[in-house]
Order: sequence, then structure tokens, then C-alpha cells
Amino acid sequence: MQTKIVALDVYGTILNSEDIENALPPIKGFGKFVVSVKQNNLILVTSSDADLNNLRLDLEATLSKIGLGLGIFDGFYKLDTCPKDFRGIIDEYGIKPEQLFVVGDNYFKDIVGAEEIGCSVLRVPEYGRIDYGFDFATVEIP
Ligand SMILES: [Mg+2]
Repeated sequence: MQTKIVALDVYGTILNSEDIENALPPIKGFGKFVVSVKQNNLILVTSSDADLNNLRLDLEATLSKIGLGLGIFDGFYKLDTCPKDFRGIIDEYGIKPEQLFVVGDNYFKDIVGAEEIGCSVLRVPEYGRIDYGFDFATVEIP
């Protein structure tokens, strides 16, 4: 495994983007994914472009439905350029781009910038649009 840090978009990736009331749990399989992140001693951060206060509230409400809390994350980054610029995270942790695994639902926002600088990337189907039956537990960390 080359990955040291996993950077997750939040809305549409972990949280259902249309779930304003936080009535739904995180994306299917997310709990299992977190277990594998922790078992491999990886750093887990968010890389959403959203307001961090709202993001923390939404995540807390949603993660609690599967017995998790905000403590699963080692950092919360607000990346609000389009495409997102991941160099700040890479520099802060002193890792190589290929050691950052970026996961998101939006190709142009989440993926393009990461791909350009050599990160590992995975685009997932947007949670909340159509039920693609996608299971986050099947995500393999490179
Ligand atoms: Mg998104």
C-alpha cells in the first residue's frame, strides 16, 4: 500500500447531498471503509469545499447513526477552488502526491486537480442522486 493519507469529499460522497435533515446514515459500507483506514494506520481527512462548521455538524449527526464520531478524521480541509488543489495537504504532511488517495463524486471538482499532480484518485457515484447500489466497503486503497 502506497497510500498514507485518504482525502474524502463529503457531500455526495459520504453524505447524501439531498438529505437536508440528516435523516440518513452515511453511504453504505462507510463504516467498514473506516475500519480498513484505521487498521492500515492511515490519516483520514476531509477535502470538501463546504463551510467547515456546517460540514462538522452534518457529519456528526450522520456518523452517529453508525456509531462513529468526528474523531475518525485527523483533519478537515476546505478546498474551495475548482478543481480542488491538494498541494496544501501534501505539503503539510510532507508526503509524495502518490501517497495521497483522493475520493470524490465530482470529476471536475474532486478528481481533475488531484490527478494532474499525481495523486491516486477514485470517483464514486454521487450518494443521493440515483441509488447505484454502490458499497463504500468495496473501495480498495491503493
Ligand atoms: Mg461532492
